[in-house]
Amino acid sequence: MNKKISIIGSGFSSLSAACYMAKAGFEVKIYEKNNTLGGRARQYLNEGFTFDIGPTWYWMPDVFEKFFADFGKKPSDFYTLEKLDPAYQVYFEKNDSITIPGNFEEICEVFENEEPGSSKHLRKFIKSAQENYDIAVKDVVYRPGISPLELVTPQTAVRVGQFFSTIKKQVRKKIKSHKLIQILEFPVLFLGAKPSNTPAFYNFMNYADFGLGTWHPKGGMYKVIEGMVALAEQLGVNFVTNAKVEKIDVDHKNQVNSVQVNGESIPTNLVLSGADYHHTETLLNSSLRQYSEKYWDNRIFAPSSLLFYVGFDKKIKNVEHHTLFFDTSFDVHAKDIYDTPKWPEKPLFYASFPSITDDSFAPEGKEAATFLIPLAPGIEDTEEIREKYFTIIIERLERLTSQDVKQSIIFKKSYCVNDFIEDYNSYKGNAYGLANILTQTAFLRPKIKSKKVKNLYFTGQLTVPGPGVPPSLISGKIASDLILKNHLS
Ligand SMILES: Cc1cc2nc3c(=O)[nH]c(=O)nc-3n(C[C@H](O)[C@H](O)[C@H](O)COP(=O)(O)OP(=O)(O)OC[C@H]3O[C@@H](n4cnc5c(N)ncnc54)[C@H](O)[C@@H]3O)c2cc1C
Repeated sequence: MNKKISIIGSGFSSLSAACYMAKAGFEVKIYEKNNTLGGRARQYLNEGFTFDIGPTWYWMPDVFEKFFADFGKKPSDFYTLEKLDPAYQVYFEKNDSITIPGNFEEICEVFENEEPGSSKHLRKFIKSAQENYDIAVKDVVYRPGISPLELVTPQTAVRVGQFFSTIKKQVRKKIKSHKLIQILEFPVLFLGAKPSNTPAFYNFMNYADFGLGTWHPKGGMYKVIEGMVALAEQLGVNFVTNAKVEKIDVDHKNQVNSVQVNGESIPTNLVLSGADYHHTETLLNSSLRQYSEKYWDNRIFAPSSLLFYVGFDKKIKNVEHHTLFFDTSFDVHAKDIYDTPKWPEKPLFYASFPSITDDSFAPEGKEAATFLIPLAPGIEDTEEIREKYFTIIIERLERLTSQDVKQSIIFKKSYCVNDFIEDYNSYKGNAYGLANILTQTAFLRPKIKSKKVKNLYFTGQLTVPGPGVPPSLISGKIASDLILKNHLS
């Protein structure tokens, strides 16, 4: 058996795959173009403040437990998890918000207060969401996306209607309060698509939200990256940073034989890329690429984002660790993301204030904040536009939460489309990969195994199962299982 595997990138999917491959006895080397590990989940440190550059929501704790259990470990061997209570807050107007508690019974009370009778519907909805979670996240999402038959199980067969109805329709059937509707539609945004375009079956995200809850790793999501890197190192994985893979060399039998890294040709038996799929294919001669530029241009990408990492010299009032500002219409904003890509006139936005529950994020008496506006990938990105939107959201924050914060900004750093392209070779600067709509689900996503190059594989948020940290961990397992099946002899 040839056992040398080169893995491109050090995001969650690459780290997951690296652990499985090393455990199986492969000699694993990760090449990461940036100077730190973690990909979209890197960390930014400034003036005593800490920021998770990318993911901030830790959902589906069972997926992380399952990953570490495969190596005889637990998440607590590497980081400390806390369940957030409240889980998050959603603003609809000035001084008008709903706070979602950390347990389901209390969430039912919140629903009942907002719309009498709604908790009965909520209970039924979450029960169906839990059943779908058990089918999807515990089983179907671990399948490699090779054949449509993977989706056909006795459990999915009886739910086929849920693949052709949408979350939007399902949620609106019984619940009438526009606030509760927005709260129930919010979790599918993690799948990168509009609720009107997301199959009702994906309500398992609502079980992840209300059933399993929102968790916080002490010190931030980057602690999970550090934990996975520590595990990978224990298993013998080798890491090389500042190591940009410039080319994947393929011989006349369509076998990869080396990768070119910073001008050096490094022999390898297998390549697994966790870098963005489109970019990875550009490392091959054009005849060896599976998907054309037209193919990529026709895909529905999950949004890009405009982000700000801000240090405040005081504590911010009337907000929670996770706070969503849904005081504008998502339907209108979503059109600007998906239908006619442009900068949104009235963006909704998300803000994270992790130092509210975790002192390690900011010096005493100060607050660390991350702001995120979802955007269409590929739109124009300039300093002036970023600045304009910063003013918009800071003024909205001030108005909705009734306080002055502008004068308390110590520093701010922005991050947008151009940075996603520069830092991650991201297609059109997408933040979360390829949207999980019906026509881009499972076997309809870009394939884990190259159809043209025999020993080239892909993992990450552009292939199966899709965007998000838990799916990326699963993607690493799916890719390594397939490699082991095909190459362990
Ligand atoms: C702003 C933001 C917020 C998010 N929020 C959440 C959240 O709250 N919860 C959640 O679950 N998910 C969230 N996500 C999604 C989640 O972070 C991603 O789905 C996941 O981290 C993707 O991991 P990956 O391994 O697929 O890719 P990446 O993390 O992008 O890793 C790919 C790596 O490949 C490297 N690379 C690229 N080209 C090369 C090359 N030529 N040579 C060497 N290396 C290369 C890149 O530098 C990068 O490190 C968020 C994402 C973003 C961007």
